[in-house]
Amino acid sequence: MPQTSMSKTSMSQTFNYVFGPVPSRRLGMSLGIDLVPHKICNYDCIFCEIGITKKTVTQRKEYVKKETIIKELDDFLKSYNGKIDHITLTGEGETTLNSGLGEIIKEIKMKYHYPVAVLTHSGNIFDKKVREEISLADVICPSLDAATQEVFEKVNKPHNSIKIENVIEGLIKLREEFKNKILLEVLLVKGINDSYEEITNIGKACSLIKPDMVQINSVDRPGAYPQAIPLSSEELQKAKEIISKYYPKVEVLSRHYQNPEPIKKPIEEIEKDILSMMRRRPLTILDIVISEGIDFFKAKEIILNLLSESKIEEVNLNGTKFYRILKN
Ligand code: SF4
Repeated sequence: MPQTSMSKTSMSQTFNYVFGPVPSRRLGMSLGIDLVPHKICNYDCIFCEIGITKKTVTQRKEYVKKETIIKELDDFLKSYNGKIDHITLTGEGETTLNSGLGEIIKEIKMKYHYPVAVLTHSGNIFDKKVREEISLADVICPSLDAATQEVFEKVNKPHNSIKIENVIEGLIKLREEFKNKILLEVLLVKGINDSYEEITNIGKACSLIKPDMVQINSVDRPGAYPQAIPLSSEELQKAKEIISKYYPKVEVLSRHYQNPEPIKKPIEEIEKDILSMMRRRPLTILDIVISEGIDFFKAKEIILNLLSESKIEEVNLNGTKFYRILKN
């Protein structure tokens, strides 16, 4: 469930788990915390922005210890004085695989006043213990990209122990038990989960789950597999119309980002932030302009520099240039 990373202060300290805040379409200025390391995940989504899952992982474990996370958060917040709308628990994999999830949420809420959001692929929500832990949050952003096992396997490529009927049932139970906000994301990929039948099935599932909002989205960054092809805005609108026949609280996620406050910091800090952010997802120059509060030409200069140092590479998605980190 990756989202971008960026630090807004000129801090020399390196943060391994805390990142941002980043402008999020759903959560405003979102301070991210990674609860699991790279690709600790029981899905292998074709659209994953951080690459292929070589081996799916199902075991819940304290992949990152609560004490480590809270210490980083304390250190970050000590010197950060910008806007934060949510502290968002996410990961370079599946958030709920961290078995300390509940304790981490409790501790953050005890120490700080920020609302806590959790991003999850929903595959573990069938587990009552996971539901109890995640329900300590203020906002839950689960995903549902299919409603039949066949399409689920094509789009999310889950571990073979995960069945879509259990995912949907888990989400229905979550809604019954959790009184705060649920924003259910449906990510559609052209030719994979965008048939009239499958979107109808998803709409029917939404009518049982009853989230506060269904948010339809598509691929907007290069994915792990070449089949990750985006839908057009018109196709997303059509999908919204189909789902709205079954569940009226549905919207297409806007591609508009909030404007952050302008930031001044040394170029080395900006470069470090950009590389940290690219570890989690490919970026456009516009992403960098918005997140870092720098002008287009400065962002381009930094990108050209990183390209010349072979630290990043350029990739193209539907005519849009993205840049991603080159991992050794
Ligand atoms: S996008 Fe899919 S594969 Fe990637 S981390 Fe999220 S759930 Fe796992």
